[in-house]
Amino acid sequence: MDEMRTKESRRPANVTKHCGFWDVPTEEFAAWLTARREPPMRARQLRRWIIAGRAESFDQMTDLPRNLRRALAEEFEPLSTRIAHHSQSPDETHKLLLRLADAQSIECVLIQENKRRTACISTQVGCGMGCVFCASGLNGIARNLTSGEILEHLIRLRNLLAADQRLTHIVVMGMGEPLASLDALLTALEIAGSKDGLDIGARHVTISTVGLPAKIRRLADLGKQYHLAVSLHAPNDELRTRIVPTNDKTGLKEILSAADYFFERTGRQVTYEYVLLQGINDSPENAKELGQLLRGRRAHVNLIPFNDVSGLPYQAPTSAALTSFVDQLHTAGVSVKVRKRKGSTIDAACGQLRRRIESENQPPKLHSLEAV
Ligand code: SAH
Repeated sequence: MDEMRTKESRRPANVTKHCGFWDVPTEEFAAWLTARREPPMRARQLRRWIIAGRAESFDQMTDLPRNLRRALAEEFEPLSTRIAHHSQSPDETHKLLLRLADAQSIECVLIQENKRRTACISTQVGCGMGCVFCASGLNGIARNLTSGEILEHLIRLRNLLAADQRLTHIVVMGMGEPLASLDALLTALEIAGSKDGLDIGARHVTISTVGLPAKIRRLADLGKQYHLAVSLHAPNDELRTRIVPTNDKTGLKEILSAADYFFERTGRQVTYEYVLLQGINDSPENAKELGQLLRGRRAHVNLIPFNDVSGLPYQAPTSAALTSFVDQLHTAGVSVKVRKRKGSTIDAACGQLRRRIESENQPPKLHSLEAV
């Protein structure tokens, strides 16, 4: 995993002291060890302590010399994020608001279902895509996360589990557009996927994107088994551009063609996500058009009833509209599922917890939003 560290994974520019261990480039850390006459194997030892040993401080690393532990603590941190808020819902969903070293905050969620332990992680502080119903992008984007910060979501969530439990799945469905921060994400996923990392294989990782065609193609060419989910939300360009403003530049045709390419290259069926907004994209005509669009493709549709976001004027579909939407898709021969709501009592949809906590200090900026 050493080679996986890239320049992009470095700490944010305005953070100079107490750098998170996972964002120190491998060569830089090797040089740091050499300067202190420490063997290179110390790097592996540290990684093992944080990953397998769940250490959150250097002091816990009892087989490291005391001097080394002190020197490490002066410059680095095993985990650079802090838990600013932890909530848990009755269905055992946990949500963490993590404070980053530069005082920004991000969210991640642990979903527990039968034997599955799924981490839902973020890739950016905020989001630049501006989907009109989504809380993450309401205040725009502050920055991409580093690979270390992304990995720390996973470590922090895993540390909530009992000692004999591990994370089994990752969904990149938190804040931000993963394909706009792809290098950092891939670096984090490589470490997460390695045997001496968290051992979560690519087949158990779903990357959800608003649909950036060039990046989808790049992902397809990696030769990895990641699962791709594309957020469609509308069956035609006119409606999609109203809901997903970036569609203006890309258009459905390009996105679907990139998704088809992903399927050809990887053999992995693409999931299309469709957030249902009452009176906007939930009519039987919308469903029929979606069926026509996807007919003949090896595709699966995940319908997501809109999760309330305070201050936004949208509503979930009525149960009759939902049933009829599902029926239309079945009739068109499209595989479809309605996504269950998990953790709705703890603001578990993207960007909601951060938004609520931050709005307790400062009123949200809603004026930049155009209702559809
Ligand atoms: N930027 C990525 C990841 C977003 S989060 C993407 O666009 O796919 C994952 C999914 O949750 C996306 O399909 C997103 O549109 C959806 N989502 C965001 N806010 C939501 C809300 N309030 N209710 C229901 N689904 C929401």
